[in-house]
Amino acid sequence: MRENKTIYCEKCVGEIKSKDDLVVTNKFIYIVPYHEKCFSKELKGISTIFVGNKPINGTSANVSTILAVILGIVVLFIEELRFFSVVSLVVLCVRLYSWIQYERHL
Ligand SMILES: [Zn+2]
Repeated sequence: MRENKTIYCEKCVGEIKSKDDLVVTNKFIYIVPYHEKCFSKELKGISTIFVGNKPINGTSANVSTILAVILGIVVLFIEELRFFSVVSLVVLCVRLYSWIQYERHL
């Protein structure tokens, strides 16, 4: 496994050097990294339709992930809602993917 992988911004193709400058979001089914500035520019542009408007990384994303996991565990005990635990598993996987692919290298 390669350490210190360089992360390139999806919009300007520049290197993302700091964790504070990194916004990971989804574009279609892909998980892509942006500079914080480039992400807000992208949100204002036409590509908003294709880009998720919620970052996958950061504090608020961590809180939503934890909530999704707790909810996922709770619905496991409710037969009619058990399906939703799959959704929470997906949320958790996306969050982990973002961390493994991008955040841990910065
Ligand atoms: Zn950029």
